[in-house]
Parts: sequence; structure tokens; C-alpha cells
Amino acid sequence: MGSQEVSTVDWQGKHVTVAGLGVSGIPAARALHERGAIVTVVNDGDDARARAQAAELEALGITVRLGDGATLPPSTQLVVTAPGWQPDKPLFLAAAEAGVDIWGDVELAWRLRGTGGRKAAPWLAVTGTNGKTTTVRMLASILEAAGLRTAAVGNIGVSLLDAVLGEQEYDVLAVELSSYQLHWAPSLRAHSAAVLNLAPDHLDWHGSMEAYAADKGRIYEGNTVACVYNAADPATEHLVREADVEEGCRAIGFTLAAPGPSQLGVVDGILVDRAFVANRHKQAQELAEVSDVDPPAPHNIANALAAAALARAFGVEPAAVRDGLRAFRPDAHRIEHVADIGEVAYVDDSKATNTHATEASLAAYDSIVWIAGGLAKGATFDELVTGAAKRLRGVVLMGADRALIREALARHAPEVPVVDLDRTDTGAMSEAVEHAARLARPGDTVLLAPACASMDMFTNYNKRGEAFADAVRAHAGKSA
Ligand code: ADP
Repeated sequence: MGSQEVSTVDWQGKHVTVAGLGVSGIPAARALHERGAIVTVVNDGDDARARAQAAELEALGITVRLGDGATLPPSTQLVVTAPGWQPDKPLFLAAAEAGVDIWGDVELAWRLRGTGGRKAAPWLAVTGTNGKTTTVRMLASILEAAGLRTAAVGNIGVSLLDAVLGEQEYDVLAVELSSYQLHWAPSLRAHSAAVLNLAPDHLDWHGSMEAYAADKGRIYEGNTVACVYNAADPATEHLVREADVEEGCRAIGFTLAAPGPSQLGVVDGILVDRAFVANRHKQAQELAEVSDVDPPAPHNIANALAAAALARAFGVEPAAVRDGLRAFRPDAHRIEHVADIGEVAYVDDSKATNTHATEASLAAYDSIVWIAGGLAKGATFDELVTGAAKRLRGVVLMGADRALIREALARHAPEVPVVDLDRTDTGAMSEAVEHAARLARPGDTVLLAPACASMDMFTNYNKRGEAFADAVRAHAGKSA
């Protein structure tokens, strides 16, 4: 079957087990039930919320089994799983043994797209360890500037199933995919796709770096126009080489340096395209200026180039790339400028929950008072600290695993002043900002880029970022 064609499944009377109530499970169960499938939802949890959700589905005639997500109902012909369910769960082992296919939410959306008389919009897909949400939103902004009907969907919080089955018709979708979703999406065939970068993350789920990379690499399978890779991250280019793509599909690199043929890159503050031009050996097309990208930090320019590459692969004109990038504003807590107080900038990158993201963040400023710490998720900090040591004015640490960062600082940056708050309570953020303000000199940036997850001290990274912004505003009030 040609990669962009729509496959049809006869759902009538098909026994489908949906693994997991929740954001993807409930719409999946409903959609399959509406198409005539005999649906059983299995769920590990059995709390009040699950019971309420179960009652709604049962009222439609869907069977729900709470408190046992491990046993495969005997008549199952297909399992549709929530993306986060670990592949070694007994349910999946039983399905594999019985020769039953397992699809994730993305696979289901891919299979249901274009049914019921709707147009099957092509997908421009993005994955990577960091920068997915930003890049997908930049891409959607560019596609909109080109006058296309589009949406940023997928792992970004907007369900692919809703996008594919909803009333609204799209010309093209900008799709964020996590490594989990890719793991469970065997027949996905994007028009074009990008892997932004690859650093160890979620290895407990995937089992190994190789398995993680292989799942990410699935995004390139069957691409028709372009496989976009990061020229500074050879692992991403390797995945392109391994992929089985459609005849004529091209490998397109993005780089912060001057681009070679078939690359997008940067020349004298201008984002240029040497891939989607008539003669890539002689010609380069100007797309936008570095200052059109918000924030113009190096990693974010890389995200903009990846988004531009996918848009150009879809035939978008250069002016729309520029307009789309200019219109884009980053989401909260991603290198968000909170305030300038006494010539010191306060920046919230609470979303930097791993060392790879924090490395990018620290690389964006010359002189930094760094606020860090939280749950390390098994990470080590030596490389991060070594790379940033020269730019650190001082460091303020908090959170459960702060000692790991403190020890790395003692090893690789012993001259940098460190304040260890020895606190893991929510209120520690105010004290952290006060200490950071004392350490900072005019021209410095106080940067919250924790390199850790937030759950030891906050509900999530949003709350951590808000606590930082509140503390900064309180500090501004005091120093006014
Ligand atoms: P994701 O959706 O992959 O989690 P986001 O766009 O939400 O990515 O950004 C997550 C974090 O990663 C932010 O802290 C941001 O500063 C950082 N980041 C964004 N893009 C990159 C990149 N290309 N390389 C490294 N870090 C990045």
C-alpha cells in the first residue's frame, strides 16, 4: 500500500481490548464502539475517578474491568493501549503470545484517519528528547502563515484521535510524537519527519538507549518527502540511514553553522535553506533572521530550522516561514523572561527537567546564577557542570537530589560559590531567588533550569515555574 493511502478496517464485531482509561483510552473506546467493535476497557486503578469514567462508558454498552490491567480478555483480537503502559506488562506478553496486535493511540488515529468521508491530512511529525513541543508549535505557526488549515497535535495535549475524527478538516497536521507513542505505532507513515536530538531519557521504560533510539527512529519509516535530522547529533542522521523510506525521500540536515547542500543552516544571522531550492549546489534561499526567533537561543534556532525544514518539505514559501516564526511565542516556563531587576534578567526554564535541556539553557547566557535541583531520575551532572563552569557566577541548590549537583560542582567548578538550601519544601523557591539575587551582578541572568523533575517539591514543572515567577515579583517589590 502506498504510504499516504488510507487503510480501512472492518470493526464490526471485532473484539478490542483498550488498555487504560484516561486521555487516550476513553476516546479510543468510544470511537471503536461507535464503529461496531466489541470493546472491553481494562484499567489497573479502581479509584472514584476511574469508577465514574467506567460508569459513563458502561452506559454506552462498553465493558470496563477496573483493578486488573494485567489479564488479557480471552476473546481479544486487538489491543489498543495508552502510550505510557510499559511494554513488558503481562497484558502485552499475553497478547504477543496469542498473536494479537497491539496499537497505541497514534496507530489508532493513523488507521482511522480519512474514514467516514473525511479528508486524510498528511502528517508532519516531530520527535526528539527535547524541543518537540516548541518545534511543533513553530511548525503549526508557519503552516498557518502559509494559509493552511492545520493544528499542533499529539503528545502536545491535543489528542490525535480528536483531530482525525473531529468536524474540523485539516490540510496538514503538525504532530508531536513521544518515544512511547512511536513504540506502539507500527504502520505510521508521515509525509516528512524530524528527530531533533537524542539523549538518554526514559531508559527505564525502553530498557536501553538502543531501544529508545530505535523507537524514535520509527518516525522516519515510510516518509515520502524528507527525513530531517540534526547535523550536530550524528545519532539522528544514523536513524535516517537505517530507515526504510519511500523512493525519492530526501535526508535533510539542519545546522547552526553555514549549511551544506541539502541542509538548512545559519549564515551571518540569517536562517538559510540550501535544500529546497532549484540548485542546492549553487543557491541558498533566505528564510528569516535569527532575531525573528523567540528566544534566539542556539537550541531554539535549531528548533526553528527543523520546523522550517518540515514546512519547506511541504512546499511552504520562504515568506511564510518568516511570518510564522515571527508570530510564534514560546509556551510558559520554557526560557521565559520573567523580569529585569537592577540590570539582572530573571529567566524561568522550569521545563528543563533533564540535563540535556539544561545544557541548552545554560549555553544561551554568558554569566549565570543557576537555580537547580529536584528529582534527578538517575541522571549524572558531571558533563553538564563541566560545560557550563566558566559561565556560572553562582549556584543555588534545592530539592531531593541536590547533593548530586553539589558534588559535581565541587569536582568541576570548585571556585563557583554554591548555596545549598537544604530544603525540599515549596516555600524554598523564595529563599532561592533571594540568594540568587545576592549572587548576581549587573548583566547576569538568574536562570531557573533545574535539570531535574519537580515532583519532590511541586505538583509539576508549571507550579515550580510559577513559584519562581512569584518569588521574582516579590523580590522586585522589595528592591523597588
Ligand atoms: P519537549 O516537548 O521535547 O519536552 P519543549 O519544547 O517543551 O520540549 O522544551 C523542553 C525543554 O527543553 C525546555 O526546557 C527547553 O528549554 C529545552 N529545549 C528546547 N529545545 C531544545 C533543543 N533543541 N535542545 C535541547 N534542549 C531544548
